[in-house]
Formats: sequence, C-alpha cells, structure tokens
Amino acid sequence: MQKDQNRITQLFNIQYPIIQAGMIWHSGWRLASAVSNCGGLGLIGAGSMYPDILRENIRKCKQATDKPFGVNVPMLYPNLDEVIRIILEEGVKIVFTSAGNPKTYTEMLQKEGLKVAHVVSSTKFAIKCEEAGVDAVVAEGFEAGGHNGRDETTTFCLIPNVKKHISKPLIAAGGIALGSQMKAAMILGADGVQIGSRFAATTEASAHDNWKHKITELQEGDTHLTLKELAPVRMVKNKFFNELEEIYNNGRNKESLIASLGRARAKKGMFEGDMDEGELEIGQVSALIDEVLPVGTVFNNLLEEFRNTGNPVI
Ligand code: NDP
Repeated sequence: MQKDQNRITQLFNIQYPIIQAGMIWHSGWRLASAVSNCGGLGLIGAGSMYPDILRENIRKCKQATDKPFGVNVPMLYPNLDEVIRIILEEGVKIVFTSAGNPKTYTEMLQKEGLKVAHVVSSTKFAIKCEEAGVDAVVAEGFEAGGHNGRDETTTFCLIPNVKKHISKPLIAAGGIALGSQMKAAMILGADGVQIGSRFAATTEASAHDNWKHKITELQEGDTHLTLKELAPVRMVKNKFFNELEEIYNNGRNKESLIASLGRARAKKGMFEGDMDEGELEIGQVSALIDEVLPVGTVFNNLLEEFRNTGNPVI
C-alpha cells in the first residue's frame, strides 16, 4: 500500500486507512486506543456513554495512546450538545457523526479545528454530506450490523455509486472483516475502510464475553435487518428477535414493537450478556469471524491478507 498517497491516512494523520467503528457498548477507550496504537483510527462510541463516562473514556484514551483517535456521535441519542461540548473541552481532533443531519455540527466543529466524517447508507445522503462540507464520508452497506439504512443497498453496489457522485475521501463500511474485503472495497473506489464486527470480537472491546463468544458461533443467515418502522437495525435472530417477528406476523403494530423493544435492550444483550432477551447487533460478516482475538492480531491479519490478495486472472 502506498500510504503516502492515501487521502484517508493524510486526513487523519494515521498509518493505515483502517477505522474502527464507534459501536455502542463495545468501543471504549481500550478498544479505541489499541486500534490507534496499531496505526489505524480508533473511535470511542459515545452512543452508549453518559456525558461523564464519555469524558472519562476520552481522558483514558489520551493516556493510552499518543496517536490520533476520534469519537463517534450517533445523533439519535440524547444530550447531544453536551457530548459535543465535552469533545471540544477535551481537545478531541476527529468526530464521526451518524444517524442524523451532517449540517448540524460539521461547520461548527471544523471552525474549532476538528476533522469531521459522517456516516450514510445511500448515495443521496453522501451528496448531502458533501454539500454540508464534511472532510470524509463513510458509506455503509446493508451487510453492516446495528443501525442501518432502509434501502438495503449492499456495500458492493453502494461504494462505486457514491464514488461516482462525490469527490470527498470515501470510507467503505459494512461486510469488511478480512484484508481481501478491504482490498475489494478500495478497488471499488474507497480510500479506506471502517470495520465494526471484527473489532467487536476482540479482547479489548468492552462488550460482554457471552456476546463476543456468540459472535464467533454465528453462521451465514443468522442476522436480519428489522425494525424499519422505528430505526432499522441488523440483529441476531435470537429469542427477542423471534418475539418481534411474531408482532410482525400479527399485523405490524408500531406501538407493539415499541412496547416489546422497551428500554436498554441493546445494553441487556451486548453489555450484560443476555443472549435471549437482549438485542444483539452485528453484521453479516460475523459468519467469517471464528475467534475472539487481540486487536494487534486482527490488525496483522488484515494487513497480511490485504498484501497477499492477488490480482485475479481472466
Ligand atoms: P434505549 O433508548 O432503549 O436506552 C438508552 C440506553 O442508552 C440505556 O442503556 C442507557 O444506559 C444508555 N445511555 C447512554 N448514554 C445515555 C444518555 N446520555 N442518556 C440516556 N441513556 C443513555 O437504547 P437503545 O440503544 O436501544 O436505542 C437508542 C436509540 O435508538 C433510542 O433513541 C431508541 O429509541 C432508538 N431505537 C433503537 C432501536 C433499537 O433497535 N435499539 C430501534 C428503534 C429505535 P443505562 O441503561 O445505563 O441508563
């Protein structure tokens, strides 16, 4: 890889264009600093952190690495202005916003000297990001875990189309856990990749061990994108998922879905380790993840696979 020619490594001042997704209940300071120390960009996931917890994670991350790291701010959680204030007060230099309007914070953060990327699931919203002046766009395909777009556009179709319509640096996400997938995404037009599921099953992720182990057992077809009426989310087909399916089978009543979802389902599953009643968010690529590994090993594997994936003959 010619890293001196890569727009993502230049933008974030990192060694490799590998970004760790800011996943709720996984992406604390340990995971983010481990990824940054390997030469990628670690992101603290603010979505599952009360403001004081976020501040503590940022401070610990600064102690654990002298490399660049960022914070992911999913805009569907409360206390957004307070989260942004803490990010500024703590001197964070990079913010990835998602699940909201890129116009809300981009210009303000850039005026304070921060780099801003925004996550989208369609070409239409990628164009809006460019209009909002973001520094980079993350385009996330249907394969991805957790909250996702309604249109079910796969990474393979999304990346070339976004590439055709925007000129900003482009980061591909969704369905990337191997170096070969990373290379494919970059051949399709991405300047870098954002990886979630593979980093969820690492020693350093803050999720429950039950959940990390479960990820390694998942097979093709074990996840599904559901709850499009609320906020679409890809989750494991467990007992809780089956309860939602029953509601759908009985007539798709939105109130029943909200009642069944209740509060803190994601925390119950991924943080507290309840594999039946919890909401378990992970990407399709979990079928390719067989082991919980330290971040350093994941990184070495990614780079080695990237380098060893050859040019197919036709
Ligand atoms: P919930 O909205 O059910 O509950 C909030 C969770 O976030 C709790 O676990 C809470 O921790 C934690 N949390 C972290 N920081 C804060 C904060 N500043 N204020 C309040 N709570 C905080 O969480 P979900 O992750 O399931 O959903 C997140 C958003 O997505 C909500 O807006 C929800 O309506 C929406 N949504 C989610 C869906 C889903 O599938 N999860 C589907 C549809 C919509 P603690 O328990 O320690 O208080």
